[in-house]
Amino acid sequence: MALKSANEYRSSPRRISVYNSLGGEKAAFEPLDPAPVSPRVKMYVCGLTPQDHSHLGHGLNGVRFDLIRRYLLYRRLDVQFVQNVTDVDDKIINKVLTTKQDPLVMTRDFTDEFYRCMDRLHALPIEAITRVTEYGPQIVRFIESLVARGFAYATPEGNVYFDVSKKADYGKLSNQNTSMLYESVRKELDKEKRSPLDFALWKRDESTALSQPSPWGIGRPGWHIECSAMIHEVLGDQIDIHGGGLDLKFPHHENEIAQSEAFSGGKFASVWMHGGLLNIDGQKMSKSLNNFMTLVDGLEHYGAALFRFVVARLHYRSALDLSDKLFRDNLNALLDFHRLLARFPDLDRVAPDTASPQGRAVIEAFEGAMDNDFNSPEALVVLEKFRAQLAQALDSGKETAQQLAPGARLLLELGQVLGLFFDSLESVEEQGLGLIARILGTQPLTRGGVSSLIRDRAEARASKDFSRSDEIRKELAARGVEILDSKAGSTFRFV
Ligand SMILES: [Zn+2]
Repeated sequence: MALKSANEYRSSPRRISVYNSLGGEKAAFEPLDPAPVSPRVKMYVCGLTPQDHSHLGHGLNGVRFDLIRRYLLYRRLDVQFVQNVTDVDDKIINKVLTTKQDPLVMTRDFTDEFYRCMDRLHALPIEAITRVTEYGPQIVRFIESLVARGFAYATPEGNVYFDVSKKADYGKLSNQNTSMLYESVRKELDKEKRSPLDFALWKRDESTALSQPSPWGIGRPGWHIECSAMIHEVLGDQIDIHGGGLDLKFPHHENEIAQSEAFSGGKFASVWMHGGLLNIDGQKMSKSLNNFMTLVDGLEHYGAALFRFVVARLHYRSALDLSDKLFRDNLNALLDFHRLLARFPDLDRVAPDTASPQGRAVIEAFEGAMDNDFNSPEALVVLEKFRAQLAQALDSGKETAQQLAPGARLLLELGQVLGLFFDSLESVEEQGLGLIARILGTQPLTRGGVSSLIRDRAEARASKDFSRSDEIRKELAARGVEILDSKAGSTFRFV
């Protein structure tokens, strides 16, 4: 795979700096593993609660952490990437109690659908997916240990709670202290809990087959404990990077820190990374606002290649305000890359330009952007400028395609570091035509249809039938397509 050869020319081992949500500062990333070459990096990103079809927010989060993982791999860090699936949860139980579905079948189907979408989005496969249903005894043992150490208590009702008062630094991730938090929850006082801030580690529940026996009776784990217990099982007590969407910062990640650090007595995650949230046309995506789009539908509508490109063009910590206009505005930029790369048909057999001053400068600038807290939009600006230089050199005839091919190969490989340019030009054009037609509410044009209209126009112009050629231009424009004439022939852009 091209990524491997990209690895071979990475420039001086400049340090990556990462914004740590814990403390709110950017700092040099230091792997826990002291190995000087290819140190192991343990990375965990909270995953899906498969109670329904996954939505665009799941895809956004998936692509963002895949992009970060890919760059760490490019930087020769041996990333061990683990993600959980919360297949035991209140929402799942409530749903199957109404629908009478088998919870295991339902959650498996929704999980498989999500990872099929991630595959279409060109995300690297997850090495270890941990499911709550597969870690029942380990989760119980983890809770038992917290009870034994005095950090948790069982109630006569058969529930177990984490005792927040035993953890002096509770609230350090979300910058809140327990007295502030206490003010906000005072009204929810629950007789069973010692403090309203205490959260459930184990819930008594006999309603579905998802429950299991425990020292406290039949029940199931609370939401937060699964991540702490599964990370302990698969990665150990301390990890390098813990990621998730910003909406998980409090209480989920705060509670994970409390549980894991109470359990081990040491530090849990070195770096906490949070991806910005998804808005749709300026509003939070929700079923009640009727702006909810499933990931399957979103990929059908926008196309996987364009979706990934749009995500990469925004910094992972920024909120993504999704709209048809945003995708429409990015379509030409993505097509420009694909069109240029398509002009070099034998790139597989070409080595990237890593030695010329221009090639070195592009690599330096690309890595400089990505080393700075994975600034993919800035890295894409570097690639866009380089693309324009290559296109200009080729169009002007100053250099031949053969001379420019190593540069084009470098462009392709650096794009692949971000997981981009995996689709063919034909497919990106076809998907773009479909998207524009849906946005404008017109009949979709095919690539063949556009080509034949472009040919008709060329013939009309050749026979000086300018009214016919103008008519064709107007017809295409009404359908969001503009013809571009060049020495190499006519092609199109989206208006
Ligand atoms: Zn989690």
